[in-house]
Amino acid sequence: MDTYKKIVEFIRNKYDRDFIALHEPVFFGNEKKYLNECIDSTFVSSVGKFVDRFEKDIAEYTGVEQAVVCVNGTNSLQVAMQLVGVEQGDEVLTQALTFIATANAISYLKAKPVFIDVDKDTMGLSPKALKNWLDENAEIVNNICYNKNTGRKIKACVPMHTFGHPVKIDEVLVICEKYNIELIEDAAESIGSFYKGKHTGTFGKIGVLSFNGNKTITTGGGGMLLFNDKDLAKRAKHITTQAKTPHKWEFSHDEIGYNYRMPNLNAALGCAQLESIDRILESKRNLSLEYKKFFNEIDIQFFDEPENAKSSFWLNAIILESKEERDDFLEYTNSEGIMTRPIWKLMNKLPMFKDCQHGDLSNSEWFVDRVVNIPSSVKDNC
Ligand SMILES: *Cc1c(COP(=O)(O)O)cnc(C)c1O
Repeated sequence: MDTYKKIVEFIRNKYDRDFIALHEPVFFGNEKKYLNECIDSTFVSSVGKFVDRFEKDIAEYTGVEQAVVCVNGTNSLQVAMQLVGVEQGDEVLTQALTFIATANAISYLKAKPVFIDVDKDTMGLSPKALKNWLDENAEIVNNICYNKNTGRKIKACVPMHTFGHPVKIDEVLVICEKYNIELIEDAAESIGSFYKGKHTGTFGKIGVLSFNGNKTITTGGGGMLLFNDKDLAKRAKHITTQAKTPHKWEFSHDEIGYNYRMPNLNAALGCAQLESIDRILESKRNLSLEYKKFFNEIDIQFFDEPENAKSSFWLNAIILESKEERDDFLEYTNSEGIMTRPIWKLMNKLPMFKDCQHGDLSNSEWFVDRVVNIPSSVKDNC
């Protein structure tokens, strides 16, 4: 209990408020100015200069050819998988340890998720576990990857960069290439995270970002698809805007599309937020360094950035000794007005995914019992 008290005191010292949330947005730039510009111009909805600008700015920041906005990260994942050809009955490999959105997006296409283990040092998809599962269960016939047991096509692999810590994405890519599986990165938690100097979400065929209110930067709600293939980006724009064919006045549509375009208001917020991203990331990194030092001193494991990675430290995490200790800690800190949260339940433990295939999940299960996220917002005094 003394240790817990010390932790609460340490966190209270960082934030000057009664209730300390896990991750709050900060607005210290042009947010209000750009929002007012939208209102003054009446362009608050699906057309406007901030939509195009936000796409350009994100493409430049992440280093991709093109970026396409979307209403949120979950629907961006759905669109990404549709674009690489995931269809009803196909299988998609992903982590058991992820936020529900990854698995939900697979289900929107009536595809079947297959849950693979994570690595101990990244908390993200394990290349080794992925390879083991494929070596055992997959075969390639006429260049198409099939699951030998179910006869279904294995179309895509969707690793997720947990809490901003990059997975060993180059190794994952090699395995996907060998098996002819499309790689889509769920980089919803990892804007500002780099692996071997390259931004996360830019290694696979498509990467997906989220700008939900609790993410590193926010548009209120929103998502982005990242492409190095311009034709694919064009297809993304088309199907996220009702698949309307360009014409001066006619309403003509050539396939079933979605109304998934981000409104100009949200994009305006995004443009302003992106202007502040270096300051936000620096403050978050400093906080993580302070946490790391503090937890080292009191002998609690702080989850640090993996090798070869520069992590955004979206959410800081500590690893406690057992489920019991974790529950005690959650109880105590939350009752003290300090928001802490366990990591997600494994996807295959949820009722809608309980019958899905999965590989060995020892590491995922180990994390589930022990990981706690602690307050990670940009500090008041940054
Ligand atoms: C936040 C998040 C998403 C989805 O983002 P939304 O914009 O909230 O739809 C997807 N995957 C992961 C891992 C996330 O954390």
